[in-house]
Amino acid sequence: MNRRKFLGLVGATAAVAAAGTSAHAAGNTHFTGHPEANAVLFDATECIGCRKCEDACNKVNELPKPDKPFDDLTVLDTKRRTTEKIYTVVNKYENSKNPNLPVFRKNQCNHCQEPACASACFVKAFKKTPEGAVVYDESLCVGCRYCMIACPWSIPAYEYDEPLTPRVMKCTMCHPRILEGKLPGCVEICPKEALKFGKRDELIKFARNRIEAYPDRYLDHIYGENEMGGTNWLYISGVPFGELGLEEGLGVTSAPELTSGALAAVPVVTGLWPVLLTGLYAIHKTREKIEKKEKDDAVSAALTKAASEAEAKLSSELEKADVANKRKIEVEVKKAVEEALLPKDDDDAPEEEA
Ligand code: SF4
Ligand code: SF4
Ligand code: SF4
Repeated sequence: MNRRKFLGLVGATAAVAAAGTSAHAAGNTHFTGHPEANAVLFDATECIGCRKCEDACNKVNELPKPDKPFDDLTVLDTKRRTTEKIYTVVNKYENSKNPNLPVFRKNQCNHCQEPACASACFVKAFKKTPEGAVVYDESLCVGCRYCMIACPWSIPAYEYDEPLTPRVMKCTMCHPRILEGKLPGCVEICPKEALKFGKRDELIKFARNRIEAYPDRYLDHIYGENEMGGTNWLYISGVPFGELGLEEGLGVTSAPELTSGALAAVPVVTGLWPVLLTGLYAIHKTREKIEKKEKDDAVSAALTKAASEAEAKLSSELEKADVANKRKIEVEVKKAVEEALLPKDDDDAPEEEA
């Protein structure tokens, strides 16, 4: 488990504990999904990398115009990730089955059945809807950006350039359009029907039938059926999903389920995390309000204060922890504390490409 994932899990655990919620999407019991939930199935064997879905997404969401027009396919030569102004990107990959024909994959929020972003958000700004979309309420968001660390696919993006009311931005599955009975913009425009919209259960059956009917064309795997507890954006492909830039080996356990184990094993973390979140939130708010010199001093003071409070809390909780777990807890939590409090190079810039 890398440090990013550890922090994500710790945050999700603490946020659930702090919120005291038993809500499906943020709870500690496995959630099998809303029965009528919608989903989108992406077929990598059909996608031609035309970027029309990117164009449609930009229009239906009224996002800023991109630097290069959507009919400029040279952008496919670079791997791109979603940003606060681009909710979906299509990337090009080498085709291990046929080196003469590249393959393409559209990337966006996967609308997890049990979203790590929602679990990590202690003010519940993210919510899983019965329609299948994971939506965000900017009026609740305090800007801690913990959702960004928690997401296994690094999807949420922050409006760093927005000085007053920065938001966390991502694909909405076109939730407002779904409520109006319309298709998501990207699905509606796709000229190859590489994107299909429907009830999740039915799309899974459809995908299975395709795989059975064309065993030479597809791998026998629907990505998202079970990964991280299942997602409402599903993928079928003729090449391994790792070759399409999708992380394999995430397991089938959702983030809230994973953290229920951590919660039992590492009780100290639940007491520690609110201190860290408070410190990080104070830093964020302080940065917004004050000028450079004051800002540096205040940030440094906030970091020191949060670190010392976290250390004090840690020491006190360790006193209570049983001896067998003590050393392990100390090492793991201290590592998490250091990582969380470290001023990051990318603190004021988008993350690197996935
Ligand atoms: S893919 Fe990431 S942002 Fe989207 S619902 Fe899942 S955890 Fe949240
Ligand atoms: S579902 Fe809507 S918001 Fe999401 S990628 Fe498609 S067009 Fe964009
Ligand atoms: S519109 Fe369809 S075919 Fe074109 S890039 Fe998007 S998913 Fe692929």
